Amino acid sequence: MLSCTCCIVPQDVLNRFANDKKLAPELRKAAAESARLSAALRSLRVQAGALTAVSQGMGAHIAELAASPKVTVYDCKGTQTLPGTPVPSPKTSKDSTAQTSFAETTGVAAFYKKVFARNSIDNAGMTMMSSVHYGKHYNNAMWNGLQMVYGDGDGKLFLDFTKGHDVIGHELTHGVTQHSLQLGYSGDAGGLNESLSDCFGSMFKQWEAGQDAHTADWLIGADIMGPVAKSKGYSCLRNMANPADKSALAAQPTQYGQLTPGMDPHYSSGPPNLAFCTACVTLGGKSWEKIGQVWYAALTTSGANPTMSMPQFAARTRQVASQLFSGQAVVLAAVDKGWKLVGL
Ligand SMILES: [Zn+2]
Repeated sequence: MLSCTCCIVPQDVLNRFANDKKLAPELRKAAAESARLSAALRSLRVQAGALTAVSQGMGAHIAELAASPKVTVYDCKGTQTLPGTPVPSPKTSKDSTAQTSFAETTGVAAFYKKVFARNSIDNAGMTMMSSVHYGKHYNNAMWNGLQMVYGDGDGKLFLDFTKGHDVIGHELTHGVTQHSLQLGYSGDAGGLNESLSDCFGSMFKQWEAGQDAHTADWLIGADIMGPVAKSKGYSCLRNMANPADKSALAAQPTQYGQLTPGMDPHYSSGPPNLAFCTACVTLGGKSWEKIGQVWYAALTTSGANPTMSMPQFAARTRQVASQLFSGQAVVLAAVDKGWKLVGL
């Protein structure tokens, strides 16, 4: 129920590469191995989700006023052992992957603090822990329920996963969701879970770059696409502004009515992604200033709702928009336009 299968690259994309006879054997092997590992790590995440639920039930939020979160980085050195060896001073490390992971995790913490007044993943100052250089040529990044894990990629299909700042924001947001709405990972809730990670991952990238909704590219994973993936015509994993984009590795449905039972959440996140992007672009300005605030409030003030449906979430954002921005009807109108476009 509370499992959080939160790899950035969907299983079927890796399987597709593993079975692509036009690819070099070593790339097919790296893709197949990444698919196998991602699946094996899933059981770990189920356990972490259950643990979170227990600790929240016991009122573990007494540390609400803890200081800014500590950011730690570990080096797996190509092994699959977590968390790996601590990197003593990641901020000044000569290993650019360790350094980027530290800088961007610190950036995500600052984003949540400055924009949403949230203290770390759990809003109680939880240490933000990352492991880099996980496995050999591992083509994925994930939140495993307790920490971040980054593969180096094979360098051809995917690059070092810490290069994607939206990827880092996406994965850490899975932690935020785990500690707020506690969405499951199937059905509507699963699609919402994935979509919230894309929304906040994209907003983080826009916030870092100081972009408004019109200049943002709304692509997820554009910076981790390797030369071979690009030569095949792929520019990103997902396109929030046009989920059905054929140049996205995982092109998605755009309409709520197109979702089918058992669909991978990386696909069912298409309609809510488009709704969010449309609301932001319709309103204009910086995505995190108004529409982002509405989505954040819907995520964090609705209690735990592991099986929340998309219509329920849409209704909640409409309600929050009219409350938070009661004197600005344009905000609710933009939110409404986004959901209506996807059939909600
Ligand atoms: Zn995810």
